[in-house]
This record gives sequence, C-alpha cells and structure tokens, in this order.
Amino acid sequence: MSIKITEKCINCGACEPECPNQAIYEGGKKWRMSDGTSLKKNKMLDPTIFQKPKDNNIYFIIPEKCTECVGFYDEPQCVIICPVKCCIPDQNNYETKEKLFQKKIFLHGTLHSRN
Ligand code: SF4
Ligand code: SF4
Repeated sequence: MSIKITEKCINCGACEPECPNQAIYEGGKKWRMSDGTSLKKNKMLDPTIFQKPKDNNIYFIIPEKCTECVGFYDEPQCVIICPVKCCIPDQNNYETKEKLFQKKIFLHGTLHSRN
C-alpha cells in the first residue's frame, strides 16, 4: 500500500530526497507524474501536466507514485528517515507486493533497481 504523511509532519524535508519515485512533495507545491519517473506524454495521458498540491501546509505523498520503495529498497525510505514517525501505511490505498512491482514498472519502464 502507499505510505501517507500525517499532520504530525514538522516540514523538515528529510523524506523528499530519499524517495526513488519522487512521490513526496512539499506542502503547496504542484506535482507531476513525470517528475522522477520515465513517463512520457502519449495519446492516452500527459504525465507532464502539473497537478494541484494535495496539502498546502505539510509534505504530502502521491499514492499513484508511491511503491513503498518496492523495486529499489527493502523498506520504505521515508518511514525510516522521518524524525517524528509521521509516514505511515495508508489503509485506504492497499496494494499487494505484486501490484507495487507493476506500479514500479509502469513508472520507470523497468523492474531493475537503479541502486
Ligand atoms: Fe517514496 Fe518509498 Fe516513501 Fe513511497 S515509501 S513515498 S516510494 S520513499
Ligand atoms: Fe514531514 Fe517526516 Fe518528511 Fe520531515 S521527514 S517532512 S517530518 S514527513
């Protein structure tokens, strides 16, 4: 499942550079599916379009981009690094490991990790 950030976030910014999918954004920032992924514009979708921020006050995670770090790391990197433990599993976005692998391939076009 995707990870989510709770209101306990202190906006330290430590998690953002750790995400291999660039799924984490600062509050108030617009985001794109193409940020940090291999997705390109095609007839079906345009991942380069900027989307509205999901939160204006604290960091937020885009569920469509979060793979729980599957395909890159053994554990979710934001969960490990967050100093106030406010990165937690999002029960509303449950996905199997298989689904997370498929999402990783969708986002990056390959199963192989970059590290
Ligand atoms: Fe990014 Fe991994 Fe955190 Fe998901 S679990 S937001 S992929 S660092
Ligand atoms: Fe917020 Fe935790 Fe990320 Fe810091 S590491 S910005 S406290 S979610």
